[in-house]
Amino acid sequence: MNLIGIDIGGTKVSICLGDSDGTIRVSRRIETKSLGGSETGLPILVEAIGHLLRDENLELEEIQGIGLAAPGPISTKTEKMLNPPNLPGWVNVPIVQYFREKLGRPVFMDNDANAGALAEWEFGGAKHVNNLVYLTMSTGMGGGLIIDGKLHQGGTDTGGEVGHFILDPKGPKCSCGLTGCFEAFCGGASVAHFLEEALRKGQKTSIKSPNMKGLIEGIKGSDPFALEVWENYIDRLAQGIGILLQTLNPDAIILGTIATHNKELVMNPLKQALPHFAWGVPLKYCRIEPSQLGSDIGKLGALALAIHGLKRVK
Ligand SMILES: [Zn+2]
Repeated sequence: MNLIGIDIGGTKVSICLGDSDGTIRVSRRIETKSLGGSETGLPILVEAIGHLLRDENLELEEIQGIGLAAPGPISTKTEKMLNPPNLPGWVNVPIVQYFREKLGRPVFMDNDANAGALAEWEFGGAKHVNNLVYLTMSTGMGGGLIIDGKLHQGGTDTGGEVGHFILDPKGPKCSCGLTGCFEAFCGGASVAHFLEEALRKGQKTSIKSPNMKGLIEGIKGSDPFALEVWENYIDRLAQGIGILLQTLNPDAIILGTIATHNKELVMNPLKQALPHFAWGVPLKYCRIEPSQLGSDIGKLGALALAIHGLKRVK
């Protein structure tokens, strides 16, 4: 099978040609900045797809499907990108229709977190389980849910936005407008913001860079402030995961970037904290682990969207 995956991120766009088993045969990377708005950006993406096809000596007709992982919010009903905060100039873009008309192949779109959940489900450590939760754990806290073997969209495509349930209404402001969201405690950007504020207020600490990397260095150097921040971080992470365990009784919860980059530092205290936030039976049953897909998860998510979409139209 020949599939094309397009993963549009705030920093880079990855375009790949791959197979239904998750083999990526060839890929290209384009800086998102260089695309400009959608009017100039979309033709550049089509041109890049042309290059991939030439690299592999393939014709468009030999491509079975195209998967498109886009930054949210999106609408799967109107098949538009709505107003992604980190992609200015891409507002209400009928991107699926554009690719379908230019390329004449089936195109399937979803947001990047849902694409990540499908990548885990198709190619990752939790292959084809009935109930799966994927948390991006990167700058933000994106979530994707597979329930009874199906990606859960919800009525307005916000199903699975677990990063924005409220852990504490008196907590920090979230970029979404609410206060005290899971993301406002556990997203990388929120952690960076918290550290910046602490340093600005003259907090005594050895942390040099107010970001996740700086925090991890502080923890490794046994900086008391870094250790305290981390203890709170893990508690909030356990609280969020506990809610998911109690609500969904999932087979697996797969954790993204922050957990994959700091496996022991996240998983050891998290496993100790979780019994305070969920019942023993669903907790013991659930596999909770960092993603094994590494930095290819964006591309694999886009390919998984194509596979999932083609199965649905059959
Ligand atoms: Zn929020």
